Amino acid sequence: MSDFGTFFLPGPTEVRREVLEAMLAPMLPHRGAVFEALFARIQKGLRPIFRTTRPVYVSSSSATGLMEAAIRCAAPGPILSMVNGAFSERFANIALACGRDTHVVGGDWHRAVPLDVVERALRERRFSAITVVHSETSTGTLTALPELAALAHEYGAAVLVDSVTGLAGVPVETDAWDLDFVLTGSQKALALPPGLAFGVASTRYIEQAHSATARGLYFDMVEFEEFAHKNQTPSTPAISLLYATAVQGEHIAHETIEARWARHAEMANMTHAWVGRLRDDTGEAFCVYAPEHARSGTVTAVALPPTLKGDDIVKGVAKRGFVIGGGYGKLKSTTFRIGHMGDHTPDRLALCLEATSDTIRELLAK
Ligand SMILES: *Cc1c(COP(=O)(O)O)cnc(C)c1O
Repeated sequence: MSDFGTFFLPGPTEVRREVLEAMLAPMLPHRGAVFEALFARIQKGLRPIFRTTRPVYVSSSSATGLMEAAIRCAAPGPILSMVNGAFSERFANIALACGRDTHVVGGDWHRAVPLDVVERALRERRFSAITVVHSETSTGTLTALPELAALAHEYGAAVLVDSVTGLAGVPVETDAWDLDFVLTGSQKALALPPGLAFGVASTRYIEQAHSATARGLYFDMVEFEEFAHKNQTPSTPAISLLYATAVQGEHIAHETIEARWARHAEMANMTHAWVGRLRDDTGEAFCVYAPEHARSGTVTAVALPPTLKGDDIVKGVAKRGFVIGGGYGKLKSTTFRIGHMGDHTPDRLALCLEATSDTIRELLAK
């Protein structure tokens, strides 16, 4: 346990000691056979997690770097941004900041953006790409991807998926769902330290990227593709984090990705049931913020009765040895969030939920 307590934050998440210790390995030159073997080892771990046969790009940046890359390298043309929370709003803002003609659909944080709303926009105008956040970390809402991808392709648009709190926690089928770009960060359900982002692009996306004229240099996915085929990265990667990734990839392969998804589903169900009990036991209006059939397996935002503030709960839980998240963005004071993701077990989550119940009872008694 750290000085802060056990992390049930929706990122960064708790990192196992074995993973931290892997970063003590010595430096090595990033142009050479030893590095290439390390990169290949990482591919062996990550491709089954993305469910792809394509190379997984390794970016020495946080996830936001690859969100920007996904936009910059997308085929020229307007971008359609699906917004239903703070991170999907960020994706739209990145598109704007990159100078793209950006059209936003949705805006309701209480649900996934309905497909018919997306289709209406696609019918009116030709978009080169759609941005979507798979698991909206600010609300705990999950957006179904297979139907969205099919719809996007029907209208000739690519789907750019931020699955930062989805991938490695809930099913993502990059190849089977024909997703054009899928990205994640190291510090969420992969349970690695922060500092790396991972992404997979379809061959169609990379072919079209050649015509994107403002790809820039650091996040040029055409370069990432070329270097990945040589088991290399375009610039010096965060080598210590790569060691950690290799070890964690093997750990996840041992667990199996299917078992990892099932463990996350169990933790999510536990958390949702706990919110129901909290409401029944206290008679207060606690509820899971996300709608019942669109909930993420990795993060739950809990809506609070007006008598309680998210910050007070986070502080009380910290005193009991657990780090949970406050509300995010405009939900800052009206919700708090539990990140039930990474390498946590249902047993350990039960302890965190108990500490949270104790805190809430204490606050309500005041
Ligand atoms: C955490 C998060 C990000 C941003 O990740 P950084 O690593 O901080 O850049 C983006 N999208 C979602 C959905 C996230 O949860």
